[in-house]
Amino acid sequence: MLNFDDKIVVAVSGGKDSISLLHILVKMEQKYPKASLVAVTVDEGIKGYRDEALKIAAENCEKLNIEHHVTSFKKLYGFTLDSIITRLKQKDNNELTPCAYCGVLRRKALNITARKLEADKIATAHTLDDETQTILLNIFHGDIMRIAREKPVTDEAHPKLVQKVKPFCEIPEKETALYAYVKKIKFQSKPCPYASEALRNDIRIMLNRMEEKHSGIKFTIFKSIEKIRPAIESIAKKEGLSECNECGEPTTERICKTCQMLRQISHSNRYSNKEEKFENTTL
Ligand code: SF4
Ligand code: ZN
Repeated sequence: MLNFDDKIVVAVSGGKDSISLLHILVKMEQKYPKASLVAVTVDEGIKGYRDEALKIAAENCEKLNIEHHVTSFKKLYGFTLDSIITRLKQKDNNELTPCAYCGVLRRKALNITARKLEADKIATAHTLDDETQTILLNIFHGDIMRIAREKPVTDEAHPKLVQKVKPFCEIPEKETALYAYVKKIKFQSKPCPYASEALRNDIRIMLNRMEEKHSGIKFTIFKSIEKIRPAIESIAKKEGLSECNECGEPTTERICKTCQMLRQISHSNRYSNKEEKFENTTL
């Protein structure tokens, strides 16, 4: 996943997984003088939640003597996630969850920041639990081709896309928590108020029940997919990446997902609240 001379951006949210990942990578990096680490936190703009996480992320970086960069939805897109959700609630036919918007906007924010920092890799703290949930979620949604794309080390698909790696993809969430407790690392334990992706929650509960009864089942699911992924990739239509007509970021479509979402948000604002000033100056 990582080379001896990589500049690695660690995506640090402030939760137990990402804080543990940061501590472990800092420890590993000491053996590789040519490698370097930078922490990046994306502030989505979730009142009463992200503020505390930002503080914890900053404290950990200071303690570890790691450069810490914070980027925000507000700065990049002109909206906080809170304001996006408020706008979308005024729309009747919106089927996407807050996490769907948050995920797309955060991915782009991380990529833009990592690219500006001239990073070789973005390391995220997705655990074995996250990976198996996502695998089943994609199957339940009938989105098999996504399994081919969302792998532990992403392809170098476009010069503007920083490669992403998931060093914790085989580590159960319980172990990242245990690591943080044993090492007395401070992390945010408060859940996000929007963490309500119903199907993912059902899958999480189901997998945890199965794991309790049949130890190792999450690992087996993960490994099975690793084995069949090349076959899925071989039948998946290779979608070439071009650049978004609006923002210039890599995309498979004419307009990238983020710009499509921002258009939708802007549209809902225009029709539902004519008085409010639209502040999207970046895109
Ligand atoms: Fe974003 Fe959903 Fe995570 Fe909250 S739970 S930070 S809305 S992805
Ligand atoms: Zn775009």
